[in-house]
Amino acid sequence: MNLELSAEQSAVKALARDFTDREITPHAAAWDRAESVDRGIVKKLGALGFLGLTIEERYGGCGGDHLAYCLVTEELGRGDSSVRGIVSVSLGLVATSIARWGSEEQKQEWLPRLTSGQALGCFGLTEPGTGSDAARLTTRAERDGDTYVITGSKMFITNGTWADVVLLFARTGGEPGHRGISAFLVPADAPGLTRREIHGKLGLRGQATAELALDAVRVPAAAMLGPEGKGFSVAMAALAKGRMSVAAGSVGIAQACLEAAVAYAGQREQFGAPIAGRQLVQELLADIAVDVDAARLLTWRVADHIDRGLPFATESSTAKLYAAEAAVRCANNALQVFGGYGYIDEYPAGKLLRDARVMTLYEGTSQIHKLLIGRALTGVSAF
Ligand code: FAD
Repeated sequence: MNLELSAEQSAVKALARDFTDREITPHAAAWDRAESVDRGIVKKLGALGFLGLTIEERYGGCGGDHLAYCLVTEELGRGDSSVRGIVSVSLGLVATSIARWGSEEQKQEWLPRLTSGQALGCFGLTEPGTGSDAARLTTRAERDGDTYVITGSKMFITNGTWADVVLLFARTGGEPGHRGISAFLVPADAPGLTRREIHGKLGLRGQATAELALDAVRVPAAAMLGPEGKGFSVAMAALAKGRMSVAAGSVGIAQACLEAAVAYAGQREQFGAPIAGRQLVQELLADIAVDVDAARLLTWRVADHIDRGLPFATESSTAKLYAAEAAVRCANNALQVFGGYGYIDEYPAGKLLRDARVMTLYEGTSQIHKLLIGRALTGVSAF
């Protein structure tokens, strides 16, 4: 694995860093308070190619590699995790799945709009009663001639109220567990589909997270993505790559913690000198820096494996588990450096901690990733 960035990768990182510093970071606290990022950000992300980084150029994407995707995700996450999540879901889970599993008609219909930011996607797997155990989902799609009629509900759906298309997982067969699940591309304005935004989240407050209710939503049979009964494979393939993006976003949070804490320690004086000169403060900063480096290297390894066509699922779980937990530790350490000022929202540490916390919960909780790594090590499933 080559740790030196290519000229193209350095350029895309610089572009994302500059964009984040100008268009995201200055607004992040206000968006957090308003419980909504400015929707205009979606068009800007699309115009820069960030919503189609890894998608082929003929569908409006940039045809970039996965390390470039990690670099952009990290930078966006450094500015505001709510913005980063828009890209991770619409590109990383939805457009990527359409590119891999879609028919030519499905690719033509959705990819140019998703990559340009004219449309957003959301990923509807979790239900009120099924989170970690997604294979037991109960939303049903009944065949009726050339259509399917879908009834059920989805919970915690990122981009839920903003999305134009839902990559939705529903049970089409009588078989229990993952075998009976199929994936569908459901237009968000389909009659019978209602969306309700979830307010009062601890973090990611700028992001539109929603509950979806499907009451006899009718879609053409051609809206199925991938083969019938293979929906769980569609979901797991998306999440294996998606976890790399959550890891990269976690690195972004950790990097933001490092930059904010070092700057604050340099200017805050106690006992007649900057606190940066105190050994115990340096310990906090060093702990953050080590976590940033380790999380970033684990994340880059996933991108390297994907780009070289090597297996990457366990590496992705490892990076996601480590980086998510590291982001929480780094934010907690940064808050400590800020002292009492870390506890009020004029300073960034509190929001970083709130935004970091969800990283250990979604796209597989930390416990689930430990079980996945344990299964890979032993060959024995503990689920
Ligand atoms: P549960 O599965 O009920 O878990 C509760 C606790 O039990 C956890 O600590 C878990 O680790 C533990 N646990 C469960 N099973 C085991 C086990 N076998 N062994 C040990 N411990 C176990 N979902 C989507 O489909 N699309 C989205 O876009 C999306 N976005 C989200 C955005 C936010 C802000 C949040 C909070 C969630 C989002 N989710 C989304 C859902 C997310 O993926 C789930 O919350 C997550 O999978 C956990 O499921 P759960 O909340 O039902 O927790």
